[in-house]
Amino acid sequence: MTALDRSREFAGKTVLVTGAGKGIGEATARLMAARGARVIAVSRTRSDLEALAAAIGCETVCVDLADADAARAAAQAAQPVDLLVNNAGMVELQPFLDTTVDAFDTTMAVNVRAPMIVAQVCARSMIERGVPGAIVNVSSISAMIGLPLHAAYCASKAALDGLTRVMAVELGAHGIRVNAINPVVTLTPMAEKAWSDPAKSAPMLARIPLDRFVQPDEVARSIAYLLGDDAAMVSGTSLAVDGGFLAG
Ligand code: NAP
Repeated sequence: MTALDRSREFAGKTVLVTGAGKGIGEATARLMAARGARVIAVSRTRSDLEALAAAIGCETVCVDLADADAARAAAQAAQPVDLLVNNAGMVELQPFLDTTVDAFDTTMAVNVRAPMIVAQVCARSMIERGVPGAIVNVSSISAMIGLPLHAAYCASKAALDGLTRVMAVELGAHGIRVNAINPVVTLTPMAEKAWSDPAKSAPMLARIPLDRFVQPDEVARSIAYLLGDDAAMVSGTSLAVDGGFLAG
């Protein structure tokens, strides 16, 4: 493998990607397959998974990760895996004063509880097999700033960064690295929901020094960096993919 040829970078490795049906997860599944990994794609809409499997030849698991028991069973059925990308996430836009218990609980279940459960299953399997591993939790710049209408979402992503640090601290002794990746607005179906109104997106864009939103493949490549040997001593970090947003 030359520096430019990464087609075998993850040969012999199995990666589980949640939320692989659309957006960042789909881009990550495609990139990891292109770099030689065996991909297990987990998501909720069966037609998305069928299209992805036809395109990249991955295995698929259709599950609603909001259901804790179903999430655990799906993760167990997928073992053994070497690499995990906890990417599935949701946002429900509500003003803080009107944030409902239902929306808060569902957001926490999908964005924090499911990553914890899936990672517990994967890490336990890695430890039992005595193999090293890497886990990337897809967080957001929302972990670090307050965005209007995003109370449950910001709380969930801050919690996911906290979870990431504890996982890194506890799992490091087993050779398992754990990191978070924190994108700014990335052009996916989720971004369409939160940012399609130019009145909201223009001020956001104005705060990004590189003057554009992120492409899903750019997040995928940063995830691949954190999964791979180039990041062999990187663990417990929250890596912003934000065109300089947080520096301002
Ligand atoms: P997206 O376009 O909405 O895609 C999310 C994927 O996750 C979909 O395939 C979705 O399946 C799946 N998913 C959601 N809830 C699920 C559940 N309960 N069980 C199983 N699968 C589920 O989102 P995205 O923009 O790619 O976001 C991916 C991650 O990046 C999320 O964690 C998000 O918070 C984070 N992020 C996104 C942005 C952004 O601007 N887009 C910025 C920062 C961070 P269905 O479509 O079938 O529900």
